[in-house]
Amino acid sequence: MTQASATIDWEHYRNETPACRDILHFNNAGASLMPDPVHQAVVDHLELERTRGGYEAADLTEAAHEAFYPVFARLLGAQPEEIAYVENATRAWDMAFYAVPWQAGDRILTHGVAYASNYMAFLQVAKRHRVAIDLVPSDESGQVDVNAMAERVNARTKLIALTHIPSQGGLINPAADVGALARDRGILFLLDACQSAGQLPLNVAHLGCHMLSGTGRKFLRGPRGTGFLYVSNAVIDQLDPPFIDLHSATWTAVDQFVFRAGARRFENWESYLAGKIGLRHAAEYAMAIGLDAIQTRNQYLAATLRRRLRDIPGVAVHDQGRNQCAIVTFTKANEPCPELAKRLFAQKINVSVSTVQTGRLDFAPRGLNTVTRASVHYYNTEAEIERFCEAVAD
Ligand SMILES: *Cc1c(COP(=O)(O)O)cnc(C)c1O
Repeated sequence: MTQASATIDWEHYRNETPACRDILHFNNAGASLMPDPVHQAVVDHLELERTRGGYEAADLTEAAHEAFYPVFARLLGAQPEEIAYVENATRAWDMAFYAVPWQAGDRILTHGVAYASNYMAFLQVAKRHRVAIDLVPSDESGQVDVNAMAERVNARTKLIALTHIPSQGGLINPAADVGALARDRGILFLLDACQSAGQLPLNVAHLGCHMLSGTGRKFLRGPRGTGFLYVSNAVIDQLDPPFIDLHSATWTAVDQFVFRAGARRFENWESYLAGKIGLRHAAEYAMAIGLDAIQTRNQYLAATLRRRLRDIPGVAVHDQGRNQCAIVTFTKANEPCPELAKRLFAQKINVSVSTVQTGRLDFAPRGLNTVTRASVHYYNTEAEIERFCEAVAD
């Protein structure tokens, strides 16, 4: 056993993930498998709703769901009032992005691995408010070129919007370097941490971001239909939430309202409480293992997988970046990605397929149209990597 795999008691975590006995799950970047304690927390709340009533269940579990805020504050190195629970990462990101007071002539600084939904939001805001998109090139490794970004900052730069880890590749963008630049030039920085939350340590002070969005179901191993948003106390009053309701604000007079204090002004009243409790447990579960240990093991497993895949004739690995993560993307000659994924699924092996529509600016320049995405997590094993590569080679 290598040192990297000795740092995590992965057998224990496999035991708490019984599906591992039946399936080989390399789709953790799509939706990871929930550990039993997280699943149980969700089921327990649903059961309470069934037996006591939805509002009554919420009252009975107030401490359990209010703990969401201090737990996520601890996960991100933030304050509890800087955290919001949102139904998914896209809406969390939207709540921050569309809250920026856009004016004609403003510029958005971003990079080609931006998540597709985010980029389409740039296009919408560009059209709506006559805002420009400044696309910062990649350096020779494929990550955002921070020096080139620094050169592009000007007086009209309103926002830096970066995707930390793309959905469709293994690179880790140097978010903290971008954060240092944003701080230096006094520019708002919105970080999409959807793929990094749960697979690497995240600290908003170190990252230098003012806003950060993430999802529950990916590397955090929480329930589907859950997400979160961090908004720094330092910038919240510069932002105007795009939607309002009687949870995010108070109707104080017939012609007046006031926003709620803190990031909860980006939430809305009705929410999936079982999911919120489950996601809180998922974050605690990840922190109990340790994000450093998770990152070390995941990088070891992913590097092993890339090396073994490269040994297979006809297989090309496509991951870029100076630092790489648990997402491994590849193609195989003479077997289109969707067919390979289907063939693997029939053998109870889960992967996903990323298409050019998920990353036009990322794929097109590399001449890629589709890649197979195999994303590992700490509970996966070397034996699974071997079995996976045999199945791919077949
Ligand atoms: C999955 C993903 C999202 C969207 O998350 P949802 O919870 O599905 O809204 C955003 N950004 C990146 C980089 C992603 O991989």
